Amino acid sequence: MTTSVGSVHNSSDLVNDYVCDACEGKKIVECANYFCAQCQKLFCGKCIYQHDQLYVNHDKYGRGETNKWPLTKTMEDVLLKCDLHKEKKLKTFCEDHSQLCCSDCVFLNHRQCTNVTLISETVKKMSYDMGQLSINFQTILDELNTFKRIQEASIQTVEVSYSEQLQEIRNTREKLNAALDVLEKATLKELDEMRTTLQTSLKNDVDNCRKMTDKLKKIIEAATVTVLCDKSRKEMEFIASRKCLDRIQESESYLRKNPVKLQGSILFKANIDIEKYLSQQASLGKIVYGMQSFFLRMNPDYVMTVKSKCEYLVRIPSDGNQTNSISGV
Ligand SMILES: [Zn+2]
Ligand SMILES: [Zn+2]
Ligand SMILES: [Zn+2]
Ligand SMILES: [Zn+2]
Repeated sequence: MTTSVGSVHNSSDLVNDYVCDACEGKKIVECANYFCAQCQKLFCGKCIYQHDQLYVNHDKYGRGETNKWPLTKTMEDVLLKCDLHKEKKLKTFCEDHSQLCCSDCVFLNHRQCTNVTLISETVKKMSYDMGQLSINFQTILDELNTFKRIQEASIQTVEVSYSEQLQEIRNTREKLNAALDVLEKATLKELDEMRTTLQTSLKNDVDNCRKMTDKLKKIIEAATVTVLCDKSRKEMEFIASRKCLDRIQESESYLRKNPVKLQGSILFKANIDIEKYLSQQASLGKIVYGMQSFFLRMNPDYVMTVKSKCEYLVRIPSDGNQTNSISGV
């Protein structure tokens, strides 16, 4: 970056506004590459050749010296137009506000100001350092670029962390699914066990009933046959009647001890606390944003708070005995 205005223009698209005056006369748009100071005209590569045949000693400036070229209409507009009132040209300078003004600006905002002068007059008494401005210009341009670069990098960071956290949310969901699967499995196991227990007990009852019925039938049969066949065998008859009585009592006692199980149905009572807890939650978790921010340009009036203070010994052997100071943080 040099300190000329021309090179500042070079850095923008405005240079494309330079067209060859000779070609323009022939209604052709050709990019100009030279400016002749004597003719005060711009020429393209072809036309400068013809120009040089006629005017050998004219001072010409190529693209490398556009600071010697005149301003184009666009450049003039950029420089001279009022930022607020696009149709007006900047004519005056208000020293009170240190502001360039067009006639509208003066009329609207600077009527009370005491030091409003024509720019042509201001130039005569005010000094300005184009070199320093150029350095400041480059500095702020660099800072804006840095700012843009960091923000662009942050866009990437946001994208990457978005994807990572998306995965994290899905993992969380899967963990919940897995936990619910475990609960479901335990519940199903319990249901199975309940079914087995009930069925076993009922089948047992059925089985016992069948056995007792069989026994009863057999005894009755045997007793009946005994009574019919041999009336003299009183002992046999007695035993048969005794056994009948025993079996009847056994059955009666069984029926007294075992209640009839009517429609042994199984009931599932859901743990509504789980659903209730889930429905009370707003989301699977909190989305927090962890971004560090800092200013490339500190506000000079910003009041900083000291959060902590540490003292360090930074002396190195080569320091010797002289006292050194560190300035700037
Ligand atoms: Zn030309
Ligand atoms: Zn010339
Ligand atoms: Zn204005
Ligand atoms: Zn003013």
